Amino acid sequence: MRKPFDIQNLVRPNVAKMTAYSSARDEFTDFDKEMVFLDANENPFDNGVNRYPDPQQGKLRQLIATQKQLQEASILFGNGSDEVLDLIFRAFCIPGKDNVISLPPTYGMYKVLASTNDIENREVLLNQDFQPDIEAIFQNVDADTKLIFLCSPNNPTGNIIDAEKIEEILTRFDGLVVIDEAYIDFASAPSWLKKLDQFPNLIVTQTLSKAYGMAGIRLGMAFASEAIIQVLKKIKPPYNVNELTQQKAVHHITKCDLIKSEINSILDNKDILYKALLDIEFVEKIFPSEANFLLVRVDDAAKRYQQLIQKGIVIRNRSTQPLCENTLRFTIGTSRENQQLIDALKEISR
Ligand SMILES: *Cc1c(COP(=O)(O)O)cnc(C)c1O
Repeated sequence: MRKPFDIQNLVRPNVAKMTAYSSARDEFTDFDKEMVFLDANENPFDNGVNRYPDPQQGKLRQLIATQKQLQEASILFGNGSDEVLDLIFRAFCIPGKDNVISLPPTYGMYKVLASTNDIENREVLLNQDFQPDIEAIFQNVDADTKLIFLCSPNNPTGNIIDAEKIEEILTRFDGLVVIDEAYIDFASAPSWLKKLDQFPNLIVTQTLSKAYGMAGIRLGMAFASEAIIQVLKKIKPPYNVNELTQQKAVHHITKCDLIKSEINSILDNKDILYKALLDIEFVEKIFPSEANFLLVRVDDAAKRYQQLIQKGIVIRNRSTQPLCENTLRFTIGTSRENQQLIDALKEISR
């Protein structure tokens, strides 16, 4: 019989032993009172940012907890998803010993973060439909496999990972499953946030960089059991989300109607681009996408990439990724940018 899941068995021993840094702003948190703050060696002259930011991100935490219908203790904020993912590596993977599994073609940061942390990244290719090969994954799992990264909708392919496959991985794997939902707000499929209670080994990551339109402020989020979030909070730099980011995020995420209408406009433009691409003769395949981009197979990706550069349009050539030979990735822009891209594609194909 398998032992019941206990996150303490996965925490790196050095992390289990340590105590978190206690900042001045952690020790006194009663911000509502009019107090004189002489505890953090800050410059006292007010310019809007002379004080350290809230290390607990209280206002933002409350708003996101309400929006996502989650406990505040189930949320971790970071300096982009990239920091959140790095914290997951550092909390659970022993350098030079442990390994993780990622499923290319996928987001490049899992591999980079594995290298940075001296963790072996076992790559198990997605199948021809860009779905996980469950048996191949579990052939690669051993006692030192701590994390499996799933990206849904996947970057750069754009597809959703089948729910049954994700569920099977969550059920069979004794380590942590990270589902990167950077593009979930564009997708028709539901988020895995609703399943956090059901799977104690699930971590869902999201970001304000894509649908929310705030790539510049760097705000990433991890959602998981309180026990997992507690471990991550222990090693998080106390002031990892700066004051300007917290203010801007709090201000912007309440504009639900604006965010929704921007998402709808992007989805409309995706349909328009999709239809236009059907008539471009050098386009061989358009992969179905649940994200804000389209992956397209062409006759000669390097040539078409250069031709678009000549026309002042920068896209991404994804041809170096496995299963993505001769593919280009088009991010969906404004209606005007979309039309510029369509016009350029038509001129090139003439
Ligand atoms: C863009 C993207 C992110 C976002 O990362 P941030 O650091 O939050 O900007 C995360 N995961 C995937 C798969 C992405 O494509």
